[in-house]
Formats: sequence, structure tokens, C-alpha cells
Amino acid sequence: MMNQAPARALISRRAFEQNIDVLRQHTDAKLMAIVKANGYGHGVELIAQWAWEAGIDWLGLAQLNEALALRQTHTHGHILAWIYAPGANFQRAIEQNIDLSVGSQWAIDEISAAARASGRAARIHIKVDTGMTRGGFDLGDLPDVFEQVKALARDGIVEVVGLWSHLSCADDRNGDAVTDQQVARFEQARAYARQAGVDIELCHLAASAGILWHRKTHYDMVRPGIVLYGLSPNPARASGHDLGLEALMTLEADVILTRDVPPGVGVSYGHTFVTDHHTRLAVVPVGYADGILRHASDKLSVTANDQQAPIRGVVCMDQFVIEAPQAQAGDTIVLFGPANNGYLTADDWAQKTDTINYEIFCHLGPRIARIPVE
Ligand SMILES: *Cc1c(COP(=O)(O)O)cnc(C)c1O
Repeated sequence: MMNQAPARALISRRAFEQNIDVLRQHTDAKLMAIVKANGYGHGVELIAQWAWEAGIDWLGLAQLNEALALRQTHTHGHILAWIYAPGANFQRAIEQNIDLSVGSQWAIDEISAAARASGRAARIHIKVDTGMTRGGFDLGDLPDVFEQVKALARDGIVEVVGLWSHLSCADDRNGDAVTDQQVARFEQARAYARQAGVDIELCHLAASAGILWHRKTHYDMVRPGIVLYGLSPNPARASGHDLGLEALMTLEADVILTRDVPPGVGVSYGHTFVTDHHTRLAVVPVGYADGILRHASDKLSVTANDQQAPIRGVVCMDQFVIEAPQAQAGDTIVLFGPANNGYLTADDWAQKTDTINYEIFCHLGPRIARIPVE
């Protein structure tokens, strides 16, 4: 018999398909499913496979190393990677048919050298900074960049597949002026490409917030991340549920031990919680090493026997304690899941721990089993 993991993230395929349907109602552009950071903690192989089966033939991963790892099993479809450092194995990337973002002169130089060495054209997406002030060429550098890549393309060293950028304030109700300016700069970047005679197959700018709230940012392809997983990029503006999305993940764990205690008992490191009545405590076998933030200590609750059972004392590395009068060893408790099931949501966890839903998912560690359901 298989040894069941004590903590499990159940990942719903039905919810995934529902979210893809919602996305397709928002845009006619091609979809690039963003599956970086282990598919936002959901399991990259699983999500990549489901995306492929839903007809999505573009995947985006941040690090080149993540892209190369996924390529071992995901041999079909396009994969774009945009994070790597000087000295990265670009030859392997080219040979493994990974599309590369290019946003600096050193990257052009190293990638074209690798393409020459491998005898194959590197597929590149030119990255322009339109206002995020992070990665990508300055707009003013683009005329020169396009002249360079045009010459490289003529020699079969590169194939210019895309021109792209990233929005900084698309989720913000008061961010429209910034988004408009970013779109104007992106338009200027496209104009430079046209003037240089560089043909761009795919212009792409929008992530989840652009998809939901700025249609003019859609261009040829969009790059949904958080919405694929059923959460809103800004729950204060519209919750996932308002948007018709459903969270894929239900995070559950088994109670491993209960203990009945009198009043006056201190719980966990530092005794930040002391019981004030006779009660039952239960031990849950996940902790901050699994991504259950220490900030959740004494603040959040889990669902045990259809009731909210508060976390008592500090969250430890591998376990935490709840107060759950009806709990028994072997009971399954739920930390968070889809809205409207009586569970707290990842948004609730984010709010109570001063972070965003993205971070709640990305922290989830490798000891949590990812289990596809439906
Ligand atoms: C992470 C990321 C995305 C997806 O962002 P969401 O807000 O999750 O949709 C898209 N594009 C880039 C460049 C990213 O880094």
C-alpha cells in the first residue's frame, strides 16, 4: 500500500477547465499558460499537461532551468523562459527548443554565440521595459537592437518570434494612466520593429490583470498566471468568485494526535497561547517548511469536522496545533480551498498574513503531495 502523504493539495481539473473557459470569454488572443514556480505551487507537470489538453500550446516559466526541467517530460509545444544569468547554458536551451526572452546586450551576444555553436537559430522574444523598470531593453535602445537582430536573423542565427513587455499597475483601480503609458511605449516598440523591417509573429503584454481589466493590452497572446489557478490578481477589486473563477487547490492534512488539556496550559514555542478552559488540542503535520507561514500563528483557523478550529500558538517548522473539540487522530482538516465550501480561502490566508494570494501558493513546499482530482 502507498504511504499516504500527511498533507495534500488536491488540484481540481474541473476548476481548471472552468477558469480556461472564463479566460476565453475575456480574450480572443492566444493563451500562454504561466506555470513558473512549480505551477504557482500546484505542480508544474500536472498543470502543463492539463493546459496542453485544453489546447494551449504555449507555456511560460521564469527560469531557464525550470523550462529545461519541464522540457524533459513536456516534449511538445512552445516554452518561453525569461530569467537566466550570464553563462547560462543557452546551447542546451536552443537544442531543447526553448524560446528565450532577450532584454540585454549581453544576452544577445551569448545567445547568438550559442546559436552559432549549435548550428540552429535561437527563437527569441525581444523584451522591452515599458514602465515596470525591471527587465528588458530601454525603449531608446530598440532601433539599434532591431538592426542587430535583423542581421542575425538574415544569417540564420536567431528567429525573432516575439516582442513583449510586462504591466506594472494593471490590477490597480487607479493605475490606468500608467497602463496607458505602457501601452503607448509598447506601440512605439512595435513601430521601431516595423521601421527596421523586423517581422514579429507575437506581441504580448498582458498577464491576468491586463486580461481582465485592459482589453487593449491583449495583442496576439496573453500570459495568464493566477487566474488559471482560480484566484483574482486583485481580490479587493473583484474576487475570484466574482470573476467566475474557482480555486483549483484544496489544501488538507491529517490530524496526527489529539490531547485533552485543562485551563492554564501553554502551547507551542514561547507559550504565546495559554488555554483558559478545558479543551482538546490537535496536532497538524505541516509547518513553515511547507509554506504555512509563521505569520499565521494565533491568527488563522482551519476547518475541522465542519467547524473553524483556530491555530493555537506559533506555527513550527513541521507542525502546528489547533483547538478542535471534536478532532480525532486520522481526521482530515482543510487549511484553505475554493470559496463557498465553508473553507477559508487562499485570499483569507493572504489577508491575515499581510501578503497576496500568489505568495500563499508559491511557498507550498515539496513535502505536500499534489493530487489531481476529477
Ligand atoms: C508571473 C508572470 C505572469 C503571470 O502573472 P499573473 O499576474 O499571475 O497572471 C505573466 N508574465 C510575466 C512576465 C510574469 O512574470
